[in-house]
Amino acid sequence: MNRKFKIAIAGGGAAGLMAAAAASSAGAEVILIEKMPAAGKKLLLTGNGRCNITNISMLKPDLRKIYGENGIFLSSSIKELPYEKLLAFFEDNGVPLKQEKDGRIFPKSDKSSDILDMFLDILRRNRVEILTETALKAIETEPGKPGRVRAFITDMGAFEASQYIIACGGKSFPATGSTGDSFLFAEQTGHRIEKLHPALVPVKVKETWLKKLQGLTLDYVGIEVLQKGKILFRTGGSLLFTHFGISGPEILNLSGSISALDPSDEITIRLNFVNQYKDQDIKEYMGNLLASNTKKSVLNMLKSILPERAAAISVELSGIDPGKKSAVITKQERKALSDALTGIKLTYNGTTGFAGAMLTGGGIDPSQLNPGTMRSGFIDNLAFAGEALAIDGPTGGYNLHMCWLTGFMAGKSAAGEI
Ligand SMILES: Cc1cc2nc3c(=O)[nH]c(=O)nc-3n(C[C@H](O)[C@H](O)[C@H](O)COP(=O)(O)OP(=O)(O)OC[C@H]3O[C@@H](n4cnc5c(N)ncnc54)[C@H](O)[C@@H]3O)c2cc1C
Repeated sequence: MNRKFKIAIAGGGAAGLMAAAAASSAGAEVILIEKMPAAGKKLLLTGNGRCNITNISMLKPDLRKIYGENGIFLSSSIKELPYEKLLAFFEDNGVPLKQEKDGRIFPKSDKSSDILDMFLDILRRNRVEILTETALKAIETEPGKPGRVRAFITDMGAFEASQYIIACGGKSFPATGSTGDSFLFAEQTGHRIEKLHPALVPVKVKETWLKKLQGLTLDYVGIEVLQKGKILFRTGGSLLFTHFGISGPEILNLSGSISALDPSDEITIRLNFVNQYKDQDIKEYMGNLLASNTKKSVLNMLKSILPERAAAISVELSGIDPGKKSAVITKQERKALSDALTGIKLTYNGTTGFAGAMLTGGGIDPSQLNPGTMRSGFIDNLAFAGEALAIDGPTGGYNLHMCWLTGFMAGKSAAGEI
């Protein structure tokens, strides 16, 4: 088979679907090549099956703060597809939206399948050909012109087009089809890749006592990450204990930065279980708490401010007999208790890897692409979009937003509309 189209897109995830919708809505003849039996496998998993499509912070985004230095690359696409226009795109295509905690935007139905179905409807209406179970295998450049793609070579033959878009995702959750192919094609065509690492991923620690807290969530935990005695990152919020380590939004958001560190020097994660009192002198606070609970055991006293398992582990780490009455706690014991509550040390032991990561940290350095078209600076009819780019956001809808923006720009500009 050797067929010709206006635009060939590889990868039917969030970015590829958006690229195909934008290009075909501008009247271009599009083929979408997807290696899995169906498009949008990862999209269906997003937001626990509810799809957190964006965040209200994208109305007036601080791109550097949200995505790091590379976030500035998105400035042109935000102008072309501002937040209100993106929301209107979903609603006008039959998916009413709602806002939840922390500004997260979801479909009102709470179904990610509504988002996927919306895209598939648009593509059907616009007569986009979707070829599933077809993998892009190589990119063929024009003879004597390495700066121009001639065809996408797949296991179903060659597809020729005027414009080509690679949206094959990153390396996270490979079971969904995202096995890192974008990076192979980018490297093959001479693009620089920023070091890849798992991001938005649960963290493993060496301390086995943590298993006693498995399944427990604490809402006001202070988190510091240290290496060689220096605090590198500091945050606070809700923390979930797992059987191998820690998770929850704050840890997920920090995980990419931690996994990118050189692990040859030990990395310590220091937790403060009573971060809500961080502005007070904790020893004085403990003194007052002990004084007003003199008849209680130290364990029962702590249970008044922490869930039982967290209270028990804090007393255990302090070395104090949990049954000892608060009234007879010594000054040293009070200090040991304060230290155990505010300075719980965990030793970083890696992450659950790409298999359990919601995002690929690093990727194709966007400075090699035109921010107005997503096209390569040195292959003039090849664009990249989506998670494959080194533009990494926190949880909260920001990563899908990046996929919508880059997919839209790639698709619309390929159709000659930008
Ligand atoms: C469990 C989970 C929950 C998440 N929840 C959210 C959320 O609620 N909000 C949010 O903003 N982000 C969320 N994310 C992140 C978000 O899902 C990704 O950033 C986004 O889906 C990436 O889209 P993409 O199109 O770049 O890549 P993908 O969705 O990975 O799509 C790439 C597609 O390319 C196909 N492909 C790969 N190689 C080839 C090839 N050689 N030839 C043809 N096709 C190929 C793949 O099969 C796949 O279908 C979540 C991620 C996970 C894992």
